[in-house]
Amino acid sequence: MMNYSTKNTQNTKKTQKPYDNKDWTSKKNRSILLAESYQRLGYYKKSIRTKECGNYLEYIKNPKTKDTKIHKAMLCRDRFCPVCSWRKTIKQTTELNSMIDFMDTDNNRYLFMTLTGGKRVFGDTEAEAIQAIKDRIDLLNKAFAKLMKRKQIKNSILGYYRSLEMPVDKEQYITSKIYNKLDNKKGLKIGDINPNYLSYHPHFHIIWSVKEEYFSKNNDLYITDKQWGNLWAECLNIGFTPIIDIRAIKTDKNNKNNDDLRGGIKEVTKYAVKDTDYIIKSDPALTDKLVCILNEALKGKRTISLGGNFKKANKEIKLLIQEDENIKNNREIENGYTIEGRIDWNWNDKRYYFTSKNNRIYKKLDKKDNKTLIHKKT
Ligand SMILES: [Zn+2]
Repeated sequence: MMNYSTKNTQNTKKTQKPYDNKDWTSKKNRSILLAESYQRLGYYKKSIRTKECGNYLEYIKNPKTKDTKIHKAMLCRDRFCPVCSWRKTIKQTTELNSMIDFMDTDNNRYLFMTLTGGKRVFGDTEAEAIQAIKDRIDLLNKAFAKLMKRKQIKNSILGYYRSLEMPVDKEQYITSKIYNKLDNKKGLKIGDINPNYLSYHPHFHIIWSVKEEYFSKNNDLYITDKQWGNLWAECLNIGFTPIIDIRAIKTDKNNKNNDDLRGGIKEVTKYAVKDTDYIIKSDPALTDKLVCILNEALKGKRTISLGGNFKKANKEIKLLIQEDENIKNNREIENGYTIEGRIDWNWNDKRYYFTSKNNRIYKKLDKKDNKTLIHKKT
């Protein structure tokens, strides 16, 4: 058993001011709940890593404007970590926006699409739920690979950005929100036992990049909604056409801040599974069950996939971002940016405290952390 409670508490004195960064604080608190669940489930390594995630954030200060920003942070990179998935979503959104700006020169048009593989999946036991989710994701992946080989797709599509999303229905009873969304309301009312309780719905969100002429009449590039449905149903080969949602994004070359486009971007870059879908503060047993199922079911599964011109743009963008990052870092040092200090997580009152660089405690903490890091590597 690990004992976390003593860690870092001695480093924060009452004279220090609590640091109000609401986003980091709330995400960090949720990461702790995940770490506790990992601990109960016996995923000890994951538990230690997520517990340490965001323990400190180092700030640098612009000497002229006095603005501060986060320069360094200790992150765990766990797929289900609320802190890390939040940061990842921000990064992915920035990257996708840059990709689209980069590709605009090629006169692309975009289509936004949701592809499902049928009704929600269930499992009576945890093992059955894990298998059902895995099977559904495999079915979706195989169908998508088949789709990409179809002549009609090859003709009209220049590339894609595809993400996997999997909502979990964790409401035991029917709420008004669930009721309104029910496909089949027959005999059900608000307050009844939710027939979809603990069901999972893996599906794809896709932004297709299509040739400029795709939407113009009198050519064979355009694929009607019905044709899309048929193509997808054929590739899935499950005997029926599942829900498919298609939205053409009417981009205007002169208006890159198109609402539909940005809305589509938001949709494909959001979390594969929202942390509120598996971290339920009031119910540790349910949390453990969901954390276990999701960890096992999504093990080794890729949630983002790129093809064609999106893939090409991604490569270029990553290089540019890296270069830009290096230039920026050097410029910051040249321009006399200083390390302002850092905020440390306080385990007693579960919030961050600011420690200035000149503070003796801060220096002591640095040494201690170096030791921890060295220790970790061996
Ligand atoms: Zn993390």
